[in-house]
Amino acid sequence: MTDAADTPKVLQPAPGIWVRQEIDNLAWIDLGEDVLVVDALEQATCGPEVLAAIAETTGGKRVRTVVNTHTHYDHVALNGLFVEQFGAEIVNARTRDLPADGLDLGSASRPVWVRPMPDCHTPEDCIVHLPDDGVLFVGDIFGWGLIPWDRPLDRAKANHILATYEQLAALKAATVVPGHGPLCGTAELLRWMRYFTELIAAVRAARADGATRREIRDESIAPPPDMASWWRFLQWKHEDSVKKVSQAIVRGAL
Ligand SMILES: [Zn+2]
Repeated sequence: MTDAADTPKVLQPAPGIWVRQEIDNLAWIDLGEDVLVVDALEQATCGPEVLAAIAETTGGKRVRTVVNTHTHYDHVALNGLFVEQFGAEIVNARTRDLPADGLDLGSASRPVWVRPMPDCHTPEDCIVHLPDDGVLFVGDIFGWGLIPWDRPLDRAKANHILATYEQLAALKAATVVPGHGPLCGTAELLRWMRYFTELIAAVRAARADGATRREIRDESIAPPPDMASWWRFLQWKHEDSVKKVSQAIVRGAL
C-alpha cells in the first residue's frame, strides 16, 4: 500500500522553514544570511534534488550547518554532500559537545536551539526548537505510535520516555516534525503519552486476568480508533507496541 505521506513533497510549516516530507524527512531553515538543515536522509541519490529545492526556496543561500537529530544511517546520508558543496558544519552528539540546556545555532533574527534529549531512541538524540516559529524537530523520539526505544523496555525506560515527552509537550510547539512521516503537533505527543500509559495498564490488567502473551497479542488490546489514521500505525506499529510492553511485563520489568 502506498501512503500519500510516502511521496516526497515540500511543506512550509512557517515562513522560511521548509520540510521535504517523505518516509525520511529533511528540513531547511532560512537564517537570513544562510541556511540550517535538519537531518540528511538515507539515500544520497536524493542529493541533487534536495540541493535544487534549497537553492530555489532560499534564493541560493549557503548551507552553513547540518544538524542530525541522531546519527543512524537514515539521517546522515547527505552530510558529506553538504560539506563538499558548502563547507557546512555537521552538528550532532558525536561532533559537538552539546550543553544540556542547548546551543543556539540560529541567527539574530531566528533562534534555533539544538538541545540533547538522550535515550528515548538512541543515546545521541537531540531536538531542534524554533521558539519564535513554534516549530519543533524531534527526530525519531516521536514515531507516529511507535515506542521509540527498540530494545527491551523496563520501568525506568518507560518513565524516561514519558518524562521526555512531557518536556517536549511543554514547549507547546504548533508544528512537530518527526524524523519520518507526516508533520503533527503537540496534541499528538500528548495523545501518544496517554496511549503508552494506557497500553501498559491494559497489558498489566490482562496479565492479572491470566491472559497469555499470545492472547494479549492476538485479541485483547485493540488499537484506539482515534489513532487508526496515524501513519503506518495499524500496519505494524500497534502490534509492535503491544509486543514490547507485554514482553516487559511478562519479564517483570515493567
Ligand atoms: Zn530514523
